[in-house]
Amino acid sequence: MKSPFHVMIIPTLGCPSKCHYCWSSDERSPVMSIETVREIAEWLKDYRSDQVTITFHGGEPLLAGAEFYRQALPILSEGLAHLEPTFALQSNLWKLTPEMAGIFAEYNIPIGSSIDGPEDINDTQRGKGYYQKTMRGYEIARANGLEVRFICTFTCRSVEHREEIFNFFLNNGFPLKLHPALPSLRSENPKEWALEPEVYGDLLVYLLDKYLENLGKIEIMNINDLCKCVFTRHGTVCTFVDCMGSTLAFGPDGSIYPCYRFVGMPEYVMGNVYDHPTAEDLAGSDAWKLMHAFKDYVDRECAGCSHIRYCRGGCPYNAITPTDGEIRGVDPHCIAYKRIFDEITDRLNEELYGSADMDMEEFCSPFAGGTKPGIMAILRVMATK
Ligand code: SF4
Ligand code: SF4
Repeated sequence: MKSPFHVMIIPTLGCPSKCHYCWSSDERSPVMSIETVREIAEWLKDYRSDQVTITFHGGEPLLAGAEFYRQALPILSEGLAHLEPTFALQSNLWKLTPEMAGIFAEYNIPIGSSIDGPEDINDTQRGKGYYQKTMRGYEIARANGLEVRFICTFTCRSVEHREEIFNFFLNNGFPLKLHPALPSLRSENPKEWALEPEVYGDLLVYLLDKYLENLGKIEIMNINDLCKCVFTRHGTVCTFVDCMGSTLAFGPDGSIYPCYRFVGMPEYVMGNVYDHPTAEDLAGSDAWKLMHAFKDYVDRECAGCSHIRYCRGGCPYNAITPTDGEIRGVDPHCIAYKRIFDEITDRLNEELYGSADMDMEEFCSPFAGGTKPGIMAILRVMATK
């Protein structure tokens, strides 16, 4: 059976924004050349035979400019045609021009962007003027028929305004996908904006309740994924599967990393496309071995956890980079994952086994017979999309 294969191309780590909690941008970063894109396509061609999703990420990938995408997209889509590539882009949209939007539309590229809630909350943590610049890009994207979804980063400060933020997404008709702010490895005070795992767990349970109150009016991607994980007993996003091997990232100079989060950290380079490494060469790198050592560690450490099948210890980046590559624990968000997985499991069990006189239609319907919607209702709404 073919497995999903996700490739991330980081044309640059540079970014025009200065979000206070950012852990990944680098002003001195070079921009990827088209020659490097050619090398990536050439190298990927024989690396795997699975269908590939290619995401342009950063830094800010639009800094590479329209000409980069005009050339890169045909090189990748034609050179990798046998892998049926689909594309995606993660951008703050500040630099989006109608010309670029037209190129992305040709390849039907969905865009993930970032807004942390209403303008004042967003600009407090992402910098003054951010909101307006992103919204300008959003309008250009929409005018060109592009689909845009926003990721909302919750920090220890913005979480105080969780209701306002939820209502912002609800009232604007935006689906909500959230990220907890991570401790910044480049800051002198890494936890200044970070969302503590306990608070993140509370937030997820709060959003589950808000979702159920407003079912059919908003989509909360994380809650969908978490419910799907528990119901199918299988991870459905990279955080909750063994991501090692199913994801690769390319830095601006052609360096190969396990995932975009490691790009720019020399100790996580597994090879470089210009050297045409074989799969065995990558597997021999320290970074690859470390990722696999994390998997073995999770098998041991999480063996007694009832959620291990669909949690898999969380994100290895979160677990191993704060300790300089030493595996001393699983993803610190374990507390949050356990909290929300327990909550969903308990509610699902109560719905399925706790009310013997309730029929299946009632379990599943978000609105039937005055029954309060529950986890099955979320799953049903997802299934009908
Ligand atoms: S390292 Fe973390 S963010 Fe990267 S693919 Fe793995 S789980 Fe996802
Ligand atoms: S919830 Fe925590 S203990 Fe359970 S599998 Fe996930 S990381 Fe491991």
